[in-house]
Amino acid sequence: MYDVHSKCADDFIDHEEILATLAYADENKENTELIDSIIEKAKKRKGLTHREASVLLACPIEEKNQEIYRLAEQIKKDFYGNRIVMFAPLYLSNYCINGCTYCPYHAKNKHIPRKQLSQDDIIREVTALQDMGHKRLALEAGEDPVRNTMDYYLESIRTIYGIKHKNGAIRRVNINIAATTVDNYRLLREAGIGTYILFQETYHKESYLELHPTGPKHDYNYHTEAMDRAMEGGIDDVGLGVLFGLDKYRYEFAGLLMHAEHLEAAFGVGPHTISVPRLKHADDINPEEFDNGIDDETFLKIIACIRIAVPYTGMIISTRENKSCRGKALHLGISQISGGSRTSVGGYYEPEPEDENSEQFDVSDNRTLDEVVRWLMEMDYIPSFCTACYREGRTGDRFMALCKSGQIQNCCHPNALMTLKEYLTDYATPETKKIGDRLIEKEVLNVPNEKVRKVVLENLRLIEEDNRRDFRF
Ligand code: SF4
Ligand code: SF4
Repeated sequence: MYDVHSKCADDFIDHEEILATLAYADENKENTELIDSIIEKAKKRKGLTHREASVLLACPIEEKNQEIYRLAEQIKKDFYGNRIVMFAPLYLSNYCINGCTYCPYHAKNKHIPRKQLSQDDIIREVTALQDMGHKRLALEAGEDPVRNTMDYYLESIRTIYGIKHKNGAIRRVNINIAATTVDNYRLLREAGIGTYILFQETYHKESYLELHPTGPKHDYNYHTEAMDRAMEGGIDDVGLGVLFGLDKYRYEFAGLLMHAEHLEAAFGVGPHTISVPRLKHADDINPEEFDNGIDDETFLKIIACIRIAVPYTGMIISTRENKSCRGKALHLGISQISGGSRTSVGGYYEPEPEDENSEQFDVSDNRTLDEVVRWLMEMDYIPSFCTACYREGRTGDRFMALCKSGQIQNCCHPNALMTLKEYLTDYATPETKKIGDRLIEKEVLNVPNEKVRKVVLENLRLIEEDNRRDFRF
C-alpha cells in the first residue's frame, strides 16, 4: 500500500500507485482545465506532486508544452540565475561483482580491462584535474567488497582533499558508490563527502530484478532504501537519478518524484540533486537492444517537468549527452554539468591506450573544460566552481530552507563570479579569459547589495593581483 512515510521501498515506490498515476495522467492529458490549474500551481514554485507532474509529462498539446518549457526556464532562472556549476567524474575502480545488463563493468565481461587507481594514481589523476581547473569531483566505482572497500574509499577521499598543487584544490568530493550500511554512510560523512549519489537505474521492481540478475545489487529493496540509510548515517545531501532507456520513461518519472516526496516526508529534506542519464553505447552494451530508449524531445520534456516539479533540486547532465542536447537542456532546468570528462579508470593524467579502453560509456561531448566554459559564457551563462555551501555547513535542511526561499542566490552569484575569476586567472586560455573577464565585469553589477558588491570587487582584484584564493560567502 502506498505510504510516502514508510521506510519500505515497496510502500514509498508503490507499483499500484504508479500504475494509477499513469492511468490518471492518460485520462487527463488533454484536460486543459486541469492542466492550466497544475501550471498555475507550478508557478508558485513550491513543486508538484507526482500525479500532477505526470499529467504534464503526458500532455500532447503543443501550446501547453510550450508553456511548460517557458515556466521551467523561468523557474530555473529564479532558483539558479544564469549559473552552471562545473564538475568532473573520477572513476576509482571498475572491478564489479554485479551483473547489471546495461553496464560494461558487469562481472561477466571478461575482456574489459579491470583497473583500480592506487593512491599514487589518484594523486596523478587529481593533479591533472586540478590543472584543468576543477574544484568539484564525483567519485565513481563498481561494487567489489574485496577490492573496493570502505577503507579504500576513505583513504582515497583523504588523499584527494590533501592534494595541493599550485593554486589547485578539490574542495568538494561527491561519491557515487554501491548501496551500503548506515555505519558506512556515517564514515563517508565523517570523511567530508559532499553529496552521496546513487542512481536507482529503474523504479520498476520486476524490470529491476531482471536487469540486475546477479550480485548484491539484485536486492531491489536494499538498493532503493539506500538513501534512507544514508540520511540515517548523517548524509543529508543525496542525489537521485534513473537510467532512462531501461523501462518506460513515464513510469520512471513517477517513481523518481515519489522517491523525492518520500525523502521530504521522512527526513524533511528532498534530493540535493537529480541526474538524468540516458542509456548509451559502451564496450559490450548496445542501447538498441533495450526497447525503451527515448528521443531528445521526450528527454527534454522530462527535464522541464522535473524542474517544475522539484524546483529546488540541482539537476545534473553528463557528457553522455552531446553539445547540442546539453545546450537545450541547460535552458530547461539543468544546473550542473561535467566538462572535459573521462569515463575510464584513469585517463586524465595520460589518455588510455586504444587497446586498454576501460570506459563505462562512450562520451558524446569530448570538448575540453576550457571549451565548455567558453561555450557557456558565450551563451551568457556563468560557469561556477563554487563549493561554498558544504564547506560553510549549509547542507540538508539548512541548505533547503535557504534554497527554497531564494536567499541562497545572495551567496551563489558572488561565489560564482569569484570562483570563475580563479579559473580564468589560473587555467583559462587567453581567449576564454577575455570573454570571462568581460562577463564578470557585467555580472558584478547584478550583485544587488552594495556592500557585498564592494567586497566582491575587492576580492576579484585580490585574486588577479595578489594571487589570493578561496573567497566565499
Ligand atoms: S552499474 Fe555499477 S554495479 Fe552495475 S555493473 Fe556497472 S559498475 Fe557494477
Ligand atoms: S553558494 Fe551553495 S548552492 Fe550556491 S553554487 Fe555555491 S555551493 Fe552551490
